[in-house]
Amino acid sequence: MDCRPGCGACCIAQSISSPIPGMPNGKPAGVRCVQLDENNLCLLYGDPRRPQVCIDFQAMPDVCGSSREEAMRLLAEMERETAPQADDRRPTTDDE
Ligand code: SF4
Repeated sequence: MDCRPGCGACCIAQSISSPIPGMPNGKPAGVRCVQLDENNLCLLYGDPRRPQVCIDFQAMPDVCGSSREEAMRLLAEMERETAPQADDRRPTTDDE
């Protein structure tokens, strides 16, 4: 599917771990990227400083849904499902 111009859900709802100009530590989920303009368009589009993860992101119905609101909800769900859990920590021999 084609990206919805002016959506920007993926630039807000999901976390990005790679550095973004103006956000050197990336961004947490739910935080608006500083490079997203008032029309929800990327200020770095075509700029070599745009993070590779942003370049690689492909709009898909499973992720983007049929509206910006649905995309925000789906992306937030994905973030929750993929977030590290406290009980994922396995004991090591040092813990025993
Ligand atoms: S750098 Fe551009 S594409 Fe990447 S999250 Fe920010 S606004 Fe979106």
